[in-house]
Amino acid sequence: MITYISVFALGLIIGSFLNVCICRMPGGMSVVSPSSRCVSCGTPIKFYDNVPILSYILLRGRCRSCKARLSIQYPLVEFLNAALYIIVLNRFGFGSVAVLLVYLVFISSLIVIFFIDLEHQIIPNSITFPGMLLAVILGSTILPDPFLQSELLGFKASITGFLAGGGSFYLIAVIGKAIFKKDAMGGGDIKMMAMVGGLLGWKGVLLTTFLGSLLGSVTGVSLILLKGREWGSKIPFGPYLAIGALVSLFLGQDIFRWYIYAG
Ligand SMILES: [Zn+2]
Repeated sequence: MITYISVFALGLIIGSFLNVCICRMPGGMSVVSPSSRCVSCGTPIKFYDNVPILSYILLRGRCRSCKARLSIQYPLVEFLNAALYIIVLNRFGFGSVAVLLVYLVFISSLIVIFFIDLEHQIIPNSITFPGMLLAVILGSTILPDPFLQSELLGFKASITGFLAGGGSFYLIAVIGKAIFKKDAMGGGDIKMMAMVGGLLGWKGVLLTTFLGSLLGSVTGVSLILLKGREWGSKIPFGPYLAIGALVSLFLGQDIFRWYIYAG
């Protein structure tokens, strides 16, 4: 029980840092300095007003100095990160601590990618460059195969996943550009999928791409039908891929098993 409470608290604190990343990374600003401040009036936020979720509730979602509304996204990101940490702990926590830590960092990166890509249609290189390198190093050495958890992923599966993820999205980008005469797939998606492939293997790439495309097209068509969005309006793909990667990590083994026995 104490482990769950500590991991949840850790998730809230890291979640608070993720908010800083989501705010600052798109503008290329440092995520460590200066300290957090109000986006409206620039007043530095006091440490006692920076307690995850709690401060938002006590301040009724407003800045103490200028009373400007604070985005609901702040407490939402904190809670989401903490909740997913609990799910990771539940699923992977009772083996290696190193594996647990890798997955916690992976989950947090996916949250940052989700919110930045949703708002700015970019996936920061400051996540995907180190992410791609670490994915292959960790995937080849300590990480289990998320589809066969009793076995290690290993170098061959990790590098195959890396090439399958990056390669297939690179191909889609090239073909898309040839057909539509504009960038259909961003470079960020290619790097993100190489990273996902290195960590989850080629099965992870397949499932992530499948789920991401399904979610993306359902959402895209709904937006067109319900809100009159135009065909061909730019829809970021990263958020859907992030959800697909999450589901692959948590449920890949079950989905794969179900598919094999059903098919
Ligand atoms: Zn303010």
